[in-house]
Amino acid sequence: MNTNQHLTSIATTDLAAITRGRTVPATDLDKSAASGLGWVPANLSITPFGSIVGDNIWGSSGDLRILPDLEARYHTRLTGSETPFDLVLGDLVKLDGSPWVGCTRSLLKAALSDFKTETGLSVVATFEQEFQLLDTALPPAHPFSISALRRADPFPTKLFAALAEAGVVPEMVLAEFGEFQFEITNAPAPALVAADRAVVIREIVRELARNFGWRASFTPKSAPDAVGNGVHIHFSFTDEAGRPATYDPSGEGGLSATAAAFCAGILSHLPAITCLTASSVPSFYRLKPHSWSSSYTWLAQQDREASLRICPIVTIGDRDPSKQYNIEYRVSDATANPYVALAAVVRAGLDGVKSKMLRPHLFSGDPGKLSVEERASRGLRRLPQSLLEALDELTDSAATGWFAPELLQSFVGLKSAEINHCANLNTDAVCNLYERLY
Ligand code: GLU
Ligand code: MG
Repeated sequence: MNTNQHLTSIATTDLAAITRGRTVPATDLDKSAASGLGWVPANLSITPFGSIVGDNIWGSSGDLRILPDLEARYHTRLTGSETPFDLVLGDLVKLDGSPWVGCTRSLLKAALSDFKTETGLSVVATFEQEFQLLDTALPPAHPFSISALRRADPFPTKLFAALAEAGVVPEMVLAEFGEFQFEITNAPAPALVAADRAVVIREIVRELARNFGWRASFTPKSAPDAVGNGVHIHFSFTDEAGRPATYDPSGEGGLSATAAAFCAGILSHLPAITCLTASSVPSFYRLKPHSWSSSYTWLAQQDREASLRICPIVTIGDRDPSKQYNIEYRVSDATANPYVALAAVVRAGLDGVKSKMLRPHLFSGDPGKLSVEERASRGLRRLPQSLLEALDELTDSAATGWFAPELLQSFVGLKSAEINHCANLNTDAVCNLYERLY
């Protein structure tokens, strides 16, 4: 097939973390880039179940455009589909081209730009994503074992090739700890690109799995007692000259003054932003102690139970610590929109910087073994334990000021609809439902 005849999708990722869009012949992409393709405001209130929030604020009127960002085009012929995968991520704008309040990609751009204005720094990020292969009839295998990966052959190899060709710069495809669980890591990139890549990786993984006759699910918990699928957001900063600006060997844990205040901001706002980074009912089955996911407002060095984990510095081969130094935000999963999640983290961190929050202390140990007073004195607060609790934390917090009221209202309406939908389901049924949706 002549690849010029294939179709290109121009997409936006909504508050349910579903990537939706419109599709045109690839040869018409330039034309579409000039003025975008039609979109409807109420689409922001579509639930992951395919329904629309009944009393949403948008109603049936209004028109928008999805404007493709030609620098965010991801193309590969290697997903096993008959025609190429060709996805261009776009921004939702009004008919005059000005940004629309409900555009999640623009939300992240604004947060990054405000952070840069305040600090002179840029955010570098990468999303490390876990998923499970389902309906495979693959035999059981030991966690992390070579056979766990090889049993799925040629899936891992084909996945790596498709991701590489698409330009998301994969680093590793590995068999994880959970049953049929895998993980994809990719190279750090400017934060907007990192969020774009997170979207593209999910789509390519699912498409390739479908072409094997399997399903790939990024759901936070495929069963109440299953190992969780996390999305760990790694971040660091660079200065105007592109030099690393996160590490200071004289700071506790190696955090530079700005990075320390940024982490303090995240910890301080963490209960409020949890629903923006772990956004579904089953997200809260994952955020439990002893699950390597995170359950307290907790900064630690190299501890996978912490919500903010300072990643290790490898000194083998005289590697420069400042270039590898980064912090991992672990309170996240794929039911959260990557742009919203990263925007929330950046806004919280920026508030820490602007308010000159005190350098947070590192904690090592098990918060569950401390008394309530001991936890309080160390700033260890339990994260919200349900989506409802998490929404209340958000709506009662200063974080509401970081978002346009319409966006916030749509988010709360959508998430409330999800809570209602799950109200009469037991945890097994909720896990089953979300496993099919994500
Ligand atoms: N599966 C764990 C989670 O739910 C993460 C395990 C790891 O540290 O990679 O986040
Ligand atoms: Mg992992």
